[in-house]
Amino acid sequence: MEICTVGGYNEVGKNMTAVKVGDEVVIFDMGIYLPPIVNLEEEEKLNLSTIKLRKIGALPDDTVLDQLGWTKKVKAICLGHVHLDHIEAVPYLAAKYNCPIYASPYTMEVLKVIIAEEDAILPNDLRTINLNTTMKISDSLKIEFINITHSTPQSAMMCLHTKEGIVLYCNDFKFDNNPIIGDAPNYARLKELRYQNVAAMIVESLYADREGKTPSEKVARELLKDVMLGVSNEKNAIFVTTFASHIARISSAVEFAEQLKRKVVFLGRSMGKYIKAAENVSIVNFSKKGEIVSYKRDIKKVLSKIEKNRDEYVVICTGNQGEPGSTLDKMVKKQLQFNFKDGDSVIFASKVIPDPVNIANRKVLESKLKKARVRIFTDIHSSGHSSREDLRDLITMVKPKNIIPAHGDGAKLNALAELAKECGYSQGKNLYLMYNGKKIKI
Ligand SMILES: [Zn+2]
Repeated sequence: MEICTVGGYNEVGKNMTAVKVGDEVVIFDMGIYLPPIVNLEEEEKLNLSTIKLRKIGALPDDTVLDQLGWTKKVKAICLGHVHLDHIEAVPYLAAKYNCPIYASPYTMEVLKVIIAEEDAILPNDLRTINLNTTMKISDSLKIEFINITHSTPQSAMMCLHTKEGIVLYCNDFKFDNNPIIGDAPNYARLKELRYQNVAAMIVESLYADREGKTPSEKVARELLKDVMLGVSNEKNAIFVTTFASHIARISSAVEFAEQLKRKVVFLGRSMGKYIKAAENVSIVNFSKKGEIVSYKRDIKKVLSKIEKNRDEYVVICTGNQGEPGSTLDKMVKKQLQFNFKDGDSVIFASKVIPDPVNIANRKVLESKLKKARVRIFTDIHSSGHSSREDLRDLITMVKPKNIIPAHGDGAKLNALAELAKECGYSQGKNLYLMYNGKKIKI
């Protein structure tokens, strides 16, 4: 078999990998690289064309598949989870591949919204695959989605069954034995794979250099509980901001708001988008527990209501990275009217994604909040990605024939390579350091 590492091997983003066995090709993930887009001026962000996105390096450069003569041979596009660096390139790239798209119900639900938002018309058949099930792609290929834990629901390790063995795609995951939503990882299945000829394992290296084990989401939940239940008083407003796709984290915030006997209001378009998708596939029912407010006019109304009765609400909103255009950003910039007061609290149930743009944005946001004497709580978070010992556990459990580190730049890929060497792999023999646009034969 041959594996082409299209994107996500020089950076954290635009993940895309293609596997060719015989005359058939399968693509794993089709994501975007966000930093070049975040850097654009506001007007430039509107109506971004595929050509423009390619030019600024935001899309995986899949022209390599044209050069290899693989494009017409693609039989499936398989998407592991909902994050934008794994699915957001679909509206721009998928149409050129004459094949279905496979994703879990939640991922598919969000993908449909993303396709509609981009006004994309895709000829691809959308096939929903449940976790821990297998679907036939062709007479000689099958795709299996194995339940894994991450920071968004229904994430999968994708297992491609071919005549030449299995390719296991492990972007992104953590081994969380106490997830807040969904099941713990399907260890039993991963352990079985060891005896079923895993020819290649493509695995995230994002935190391969972080010692130890990534704490469970349960830990983040306790941190959040401590802050939320401790901070409430009879005259303050409480804002919790987190990633809109982190439904488990949001669910914890909803529960603590209920314990405080405060009403929950979800603010922001992307908050609404991911929550509604989760409701459509019956993962949560937040509509029953609070008000989901997506549009500016309605947000204005509800904020003025909250301002007058600030101790009656918990607001869950976007803006945890200080991103321009998010609800919190608009509030501090007075594009949305809300007077923060001494003693109000903003809880960042997230970590700043360490990109200079995010760091700068967050700094601006926090300094404006501080000026209004708002109490700030940061890093109420547990990562969705595996640390070094989780990765070691995965390698030991599956014992793949070959390892390809993915999801990072050279330094990150190298950190995973070092770990693989500790587990007995040798570079060039059964451990391969790849770059974007390269191909390897296994
Ligand atoms: Zn992810």
